[in-house]
Amino acid sequence: MNDLSNAVLRERDLAVLWHPCTQMKDHEWLPMIPIRRGRGVWLEDFDGNWYLDAISSWWVNLFGHANPGINGHIREQLESLEHVILAGFTHEPVVELAERLVELTPSGLERCFFADNGSAAVEVALKMSFHYWRNTGQPAKTRFVALENSYHGETLGALAVGDVPLYKETYEPLLMEIMTAPSPDCYEREPGMSWEEHSRLRFEAMDRLLAEHADTVAAVIVEPLVQCAGGMRMYHPVYLSLLRDACDRYGVHLIADEIAVGFGRTGTLFACEQAGITPDFLCLSKGLTGGYLPLSVVLTGNALYEAFYDDYERLTAFLHSHSYTGNALGCAAALGTLQQFGQRDVIGDNRQLAARMAAATEGLKDHPHVAEIRQTGMILAMELVRDHNTREPFPWQERRGLAAYQHALTEGVLLRPLGNVLYFMPPYVITPGEIDRLARVAARSIDAAVAESA
Ligand SMILES: *Cc1c(COP(=O)(O)O)cnc(C)c1O
Repeated sequence: MNDLSNAVLRERDLAVLWHPCTQMKDHEWLPMIPIRRGRGVWLEDFDGNWYLDAISSWWVNLFGHANPGINGHIREQLESLEHVILAGFTHEPVVELAERLVELTPSGLERCFFADNGSAAVEVALKMSFHYWRNTGQPAKTRFVALENSYHGETLGALAVGDVPLYKETYEPLLMEIMTAPSPDCYEREPGMSWEEHSRLRFEAMDRLLAEHADTVAAVIVEPLVQCAGGMRMYHPVYLSLLRDACDRYGVHLIADEIAVGFGRTGTLFACEQAGITPDFLCLSKGLTGGYLPLSVVLTGNALYEAFYDDYERLTAFLHSHSYTGNALGCAAALGTLQQFGQRDVIGDNRQLAARMAAATEGLKDHPHVAEIRQTGMILAMELVRDHNTREPFPWQERRGLAAYQHALTEGVLLRPLGNVLYFMPPYVITPGEIDRLARVAARSIDAAVAESA
């Protein structure tokens, strides 16, 4: 182990691995970073360089790497049971976790169906909604409505209800057809318009769509408050209240995909709380295990559950499964994570950190190449453009965001952007001093990335 270095591991890696979401040819000039260990918000590579994990390792980490409390939970579970089939069998961590989730999520969510990753949870919610309408004598309700610029995962069903062209376009011939409503995304609002006005205005098209197609629509699926993979685009909670109301009026399910925004990212434990709504299905993953192990869950209400509950011969059961459904180690990690929330006022403390993120980036607001700095709770995004005033984007081929990423790495910060959108979505154990440092590095990374534009 001691003679391993970045160079050695890179070479071995490139001989046998194929990395996610990566044009592998980039690695001819863009060195990947082999990580030896993590501690809190920090990651150390094999050459002894440390990196501040400003994006929570793809939005999963909540309480830091190698968190002693969560480690303890997993270690203890490991001694008794690593995994057991969840059909016909059960175990203590999964029961306890389901009880806790029912308690913590918006009222009316009373049943937990576990899966093992976010995309799988989305597939479960889509299938359950469709199947519910079949079981209740409305088999014409088979279609789904999603928002422009939405993202719900990469498996074929989840990809079909997403709308990020970069991920979707290639596979279009394989995907079911869905209906798309305009996004309430407030980056697109007219000058002088408030987030609330814009989000209300954008809802009108959704309302018309539902009015016209309610007979054939099973569910609407949305990412509450922040379209994360779509470039951290944000909107006002009023959109969710209006949508809940319309779904009730038209008899359509509402699926809230809080896989990225759940567990405190938006300033409340769940984003739906800010609109005071309960979705028919709530999908959770990512932060669920604090960034430790793959696990996901779909919560729904007892009335919905009852529509599947009948004599076996009626064939109404939800016959869906994944091998690692409700994995005991994953559930232990999740319980360890929830315990972290209970040990101090995390949501309250995060308000201070969120205010610090705003203050630390204040100076970038009028930067000639930053169109907007937007924030929802613990997510803050900076939109890089060619021209601050006209918001003319940089041509995507110039990969300005990638240049910012490369610069940030030289200063010990992991700031992986989404196209030309740089963002902070740090673990909640980041300190105010580290936030200031992050902002200084982000400013220099932006300057480095835009340097060649005239
Ligand atoms: C990440 C993500 C998913 C997919 O989760 P995976 O575990 O990566 O399959 C789905 N929806 C949203 C909103 C996400 O951010």
